[in-house]
Amino acid sequence: MTFPRTLTRIATAAAATLFLSVLAPAGASADDVSVADLNLRTPFDCGQVWNANTRTNHNPQLSVDFQRDNAQGQNVRSSAAGTVTTVANLGNESYGRYIIVDHGSGVTTLYAHLQTQSVSVGDSVSTGSVIGTVGSTGGSTGPHLHYEQRESGTVVEVVLNGVEIHYYGNTTITSSTGC
Ligand SMILES: [Zn+2]
Repeated sequence: MTFPRTLTRIATAAAATLFLSVLAPAGASADDVSVADLNLRTPFDCGQVWNANTRTNHNPQLSVDFQRDNAQGQNVRSSAAGTVTTVANLGNESYGRYIIVDHGSGVTTLYAHLQTQSVSVGDSVSTGSVIGTVGSTGGSTGPHLHYEQRESGTVVEVVLNGVEIHYYGNTTITSSTGC
């Protein structure tokens, strides 16, 4: 009697599918939060225009370098609310003075080559809080902000104001943070 057994298998599979769909609706799993879900904001003063540069030889590869005239000393603002987890200075190497902010759900942002750092580890920040200023510290040849968005520590393609930065090339972006 194979026919009833087959029916049972089909019924079991259908029940399992229904069960899973109730437990984990699409995109709602706790470890499935992406940077796009958090509506991360451009890390600059309202109305400022910046060139977001991406390139294949960047390290890490999906980082963004923000450049403009008179970049030096401009405010760097947190892309979202969160907790400051790193305020470090690597001297003339790598990131130089940098900050990491944890936004929860495994999403963090990193801001590097800073001239100044105005927050401490453990500080709570809001979207648009000033955390430092643009500089050229570390392995940098001119003032710019090196910026990363990470999911569970892995650098991902940057999404700002709900828009994906162009890979690879230049995106002109106007900050609407704190407007
Ligand atoms: Zn960079």
